[in-house]
Formats: sequence, structure tokens, C-alpha cells
Amino acid sequence: MPGNSLDWPDYPFCSKRCRTIDLGRWLDEAYRVPRSNDHDEADSAPHPEDYDE
Ligand SMILES: [Zn+2]
Repeated sequence: MPGNSLDWPDYPFCSKRCRTIDLGRWLDEAYRVPRSNDHDEADSAPHPEDYDE
């Protein structure tokens, strides 16, 4: 096992190429995440604490 990052600069990937491929894959998935929660519709519902009288 490598002792430090100088021995294995691309850790945890075996090579710079593998790191680039994995990063591209990660970014691709990140951009595909649905943004349906950008506006929280549930927050417009009345909250029980608003009626504490
Ligand atoms: Zn690899």
C-alpha cells in the first residue's frame, strides 16, 4: 500500500486516465440529478406551530 500521495498521486484511481474517466462519469450523473426540489412546495403548507393559540 502506498505510504503517501507522492507515491500514488491519482489515489484512489490506478492512473490519471482512470481518474479522468471516473470524474467525467460522476459529473455526468450529477448533471442528470432531477432538480424537482428547487422550490419546496411543502414549505408553502401551513405549519402547526403557526396556530399555537
Ligand atoms: Zn484503473
